[in-house]
Amino acid sequence: MQLVRNPKELYQTRRSLSGTVAFVPTMGALHQAHLSLVRLAKSRASHVVVSIFVNPLQFGPQEDFHKYPRDVESDLEMLRELSPDLVFCPTPEQMYPKNFQTRVTVGALGESLCGSNRPGHFNGVATVCLKLFQIVQPDLAIFGEKDFQQLRILQKMVEDFLLPVTILSHPIVREPDGLALSSRNRYLTAEARKKAASIPKALSELRKRRGVETTVGELLAVARSALGLGMEIEYLAIASEIDLVPAKNNALLASLPLPHFFLAVKIEGTRLIDNLALHGDGL
Ligand code: AMP
Repeated sequence: MQLVRNPKELYQTRRSLSGTVAFVPTMGALHQAHLSLVRLAKSRASHVVVSIFVNPLQFGPQEDFHKYPRDVESDLEMLRELSPDLVFCPTPEQMYPKNFQTRVTVGALGESLCGSNRPGHFNGVATVCLKLFQIVQPDLAIFGEKDFQQLRILQKMVEDFLLPVTILSHPIVREPDGLALSSRNRYLTAEARKKAASIPKALSELRKRRGVETTVGELLAVARSALGLGMEIEYLAIASEIDLVPAKNNALLASLPLPHFFLAVKIEGTRLIDNLALHGDGL
């Protein structure tokens, strides 16, 4: 496992690797879900590159960029057991030198759900991923379904720009009570963590109630009542996975191609997201 900080050095070292390369981009504060992505990467390619970079471009001015947990030493310790070939940890100045001025603009897929509450967020995500793909030149790049909208946007970017990389997705990795693992879970107080347990409860209620005759509004009401009053709901939505446009309350679930439930909530100031496919086997 080699630690590389400089983008040019990473690019050159990667070019000396023969065989296929799978890439796992992260913002660090690694947990078991990140490690599952790395395991998937190892199973699919000859070499694995992991990046650790808290990308300033994807945080709004009022968001937690400065507070975002950073602990590269413990990240490296966790990665050591899986031993990816390269770990890329650039600084913001290396990724965005003073005169950096080119950005990716995401279209409609980035406007709904998290995009409507975090203006510019997905442009920042797409820009850093395009730059990381250029540096790492991966054959495969692996993203978690926890950030489902991000995954769809990056699949679209790859399609639109004909990037020579295959995007693989990894299912959501959850705690024993069903809460999705997240670097932000470490912000949760014991009290907030208890409140967060109602998120997986809401998902399993939805899984039980989804039926061809159900309307979107009925399901959203089920989710709202399962979530209870212990959190601020940023959005609850059911949208087709194809366009991610939230469906109207009176739409029948069966009328949506590949219906999918999405939520974003804040518990004592910590923002959590989750999602669930309402087609197929779901959770
Ligand atoms: P992050 O460090 O939060 O930017 O996440 C890096 C990658 O790990 C992204 O592709 C995320 O979707 C993925 N990821 C984070 N948490 C989970 C989770 N609980 N299950 C699956 N993938 C996850």
